[in-house]
Amino acid sequence: MVVALVLLDVLPGGGLSASAAGLLAAAERVGEPVALVVGPADAAAEAAALGAVRVLTADADSDALTLPVVDALAAAVARERPDLVLAANSVESRDAAARLAARLRLPLAADIVGVARDDLGVVAQHSAFGGAFTVEGAPTFGPLVATLRPGAVTDRLDAQPLIVERLEVVASGIPSARIESFSETAAPSSRPELRGARTVVAGGRGVGSREDFALVEQLADVLGAAVGASRAAVDAGYVPAAAQVGQTGVTVSPRLYIALGISGAIQHRAGMQTATTIVAIDKDPEAPIFDIADFGIVGDLFTVVPHLIRALEAHKK
Ligand SMILES: Cc1cc2nc3c(=O)[nH]c(=O)nc-3n(C[C@H](O)[C@H](O)[C@H](O)COP(=O)(O)OP(=O)(O)OC[C@H]3O[C@@H](n4cnc5c(N)ncnc54)[C@H](O)[C@@H]3O)c2cc1C
Repeated sequence: MVVALVLLDVLPGGGLSASAAGLLAAAERVGEPVALVVGPADAAAEAAALGAVRVLTADADSDALTLPVVDALAAAVARERPDLVLAANSVESRDAAARLAARLRLPLAADIVGVARDDLGVVAQHSAFGGAFTVEGAPTFGPLVATLRPGAVTDRLDAQPLIVERLEVVASGIPSARIESFSETAAPSSRPELRGARTVVAGGRGVGSREDFALVEQLADVLGAAVGASRAAVDAGYVPAAAQVGQTGVTVSPRLYIALGISGAIQHRAGMQTATTIVAIDKDPEAPIFDIADFGIVGDLFTVVPHLIRALEAHKK
């Protein structure tokens, strides 16, 4: 049986990151999805519930950055001989995936939006030129190491019986950066994390001010959405830089992306064009965002959005 090895991100609290379900579903298009969990073994049951046919577990030295995960990945590759090694395109996992590819001299496909198999082997799908094209690339040798854009694959697998296998990992002894101290910061809000959110409400320069950005946040809260922004809104100080979506910000692939007062510059589109459904509200009918929007409203956002919020609240009752 062909194996597709999946590295799952474990959150500091011990559970799996929201990217896990999409990773396993994507991997299953290539082979039997076998999960690797480095850290608390409790996450193994969650991995099986999300469709992993087997779960490999390995201990983590929580003070060492990335290296224990790369060592565990290398051990899992040697043992399973997978056709694909798939990880999330998160800060932690893309670092581990790149290091694994460099260490084992394997091909790397970063930030893919899908993966498949054809007669010749594994094919990775990329969103290119600001999302204008989906292109395919295939390695000429393997296995392929790939990182999957969070939210790009929305399929879900059926739960599998829990089969846990302990992985013997020989530490490579390569020097690693270590965490010497850390301090916890309070989460600034209860809103979902932008990266990987199912719904994103984003505001642009058209919102006009930091105070008026509250309207964007209000709509996000009614929808249980994450808040995003264009670079112009960030540069104007309406929101922190962490909210920036686009070429030099966060790449998102939600089911629903609502753009408020965002013209749709190519650099912004690069970060959100793979959203399943795009809704744009802009007062300029010529705004390029309407070229990619599934639903567009030409109007003043300060008139349209309060109506929308009221309608959504009434719908909830
Ligand atoms: C190297 C490089 C990297 C970049 N990276 C990024 C990036 O990562 N992300 C990013 O977003 N940009 C990025 N940019 C900037 C990008 O080119 C645009 O300048 C930016 O996206 C514009 O932001 P905006 O759409 O909010 O502003 P604008 O283009 O000014 O658009 C504002 C829109 O609001 C509308 N509007 C105004 N008032 C209202 C109202 N009351 N109601 C409804 N609509 C209204 C206007 O009609 C207009 O369409 C980058 C640029 C460069 C050169």
